[in-house]
Amino acid sequence: MATGTPSPAFSSFQLRDSWKILAYVVLWCVLTLSAADVVAQGASIPEAQIVLFTPSDVQPPPRAGYLNRLNQFGLYAEQFFHQGLTDWGYSPARKEIFNRDGDGNIAVIHVKGELPAAGGAYKKQWISRQVHDKLKRDHGIKIAGNLYWIFVYVGDPPVRHDSYRGSGNSKDGGWAVLNYTNLPGKISPRSPMVTPLNDKLTLKGCIHEFGHAFGLPHIGPKVELGKGNTLMGPVNRIYASHKMPNRTQAYLSEASAAILSTHPVFTGDPTARSTLPKTNFRQVKADYDRKSHTIEVRGRLETDFPVHRVVVIDDRDDKIGGYWVKGFVAEVDPQSRFSVSIPNPGRKGQLKILAVYKNGAFTGNGTKRGIDSATLVPYRF
Ligand SMILES: [Zn+2]
Repeated sequence: MATGTPSPAFSSFQLRDSWKILAYVVLWCVLTLSAADVVAQGASIPEAQIVLFTPSDVQPPPRAGYLNRLNQFGLYAEQFFHQGLTDWGYSPARKEIFNRDGDGNIAVIHVKGELPAAGGAYKKQWISRQVHDKLKRDHGIKIAGNLYWIFVYVGDPPVRHDSYRGSGNSKDGGWAVLNYTNLPGKISPRSPMVTPLNDKLTLKGCIHEFGHAFGLPHIGPKVELGKGNTLMGPVNRIYASHKMPNRTQAYLSEASAAILSTHPVFTGDPTARSTLPKTNFRQVKADYDRKSHTIEVRGRLETDFPVHRVVVIDDRDDKIGGYWVKGFVAEVDPQSRFSVSIPNPGRKGQLKILAVYKNGAFTGNGTKRGIDSATLVPYRF
């Protein structure tokens, strides 16, 4: 049809009867409102799904065995996050974050990859992508906005999948990929993070990667708290090799808790989870107080959205390694000001400053999410 030809529908708007025009207006409103409804429904509570992934040429371990083991992983992680959030004064609305089956057990989906383990072919594509494609195609499962904790089984030790990764944020959901080991034993939900069995199963490493799926950056321990290593800190072997105290324990750092406490998985409130608030840190000053040997950080946060906390990461030059940076948390007062003390700082380094918003957004500049968006403040004393 040629463009510009008036269609019958167009002509019908020339009706003189005003009630009919009114009817069109009402119809338009109804259609618009239901469209808005669809948008609102789009912001759903993120689902967290545990997946067992096997390359095409690997038989999965017996189903009852991996269901049992991955239920233990799920329950341990739920308990750990809940306890960590509670310890820092938060009251998470949701404790059971993983999808359950009809019997109330944590549900596990087995995904068989297209590529074989032989020659490492299964690693040639991102495993998270292979899992997402299969879940969409074979199970009709929606990926966007949800979280996937993907355990890769390539055989019993010494064979293992050794590339541990995780990524995500409060808007898009996330994924973590790690090794599944088919060893006897039971992970008790309240056992210390570091036991011989938990270490063999790389329990902390697996939950660490799932922490990245929530958008958590690396944050190391404050050993003076007597709580051991941090979830997002160094691996247990490195922590022990530096002769650090409380080696059987690992905790959720205060900064990690501040970030997680607003994630819609824990708040159960996905409203506005897509919003990335305007974020400008102004008049940020880092002054060294010689008497108390602390850095006093002060500044203002310019934003148009309800803020939860400001997180300051002290990335000192003389740290042991990238996993050992320390996190500090500040509240923002009604005049948009914040301040925080950093005790025993290094002589030189940089502060990474970010805001945590009530919708879960974690940003330092309002244009990107996560630690790479931090506002940087170099210091030297
Ligand atoms: Zn990591």
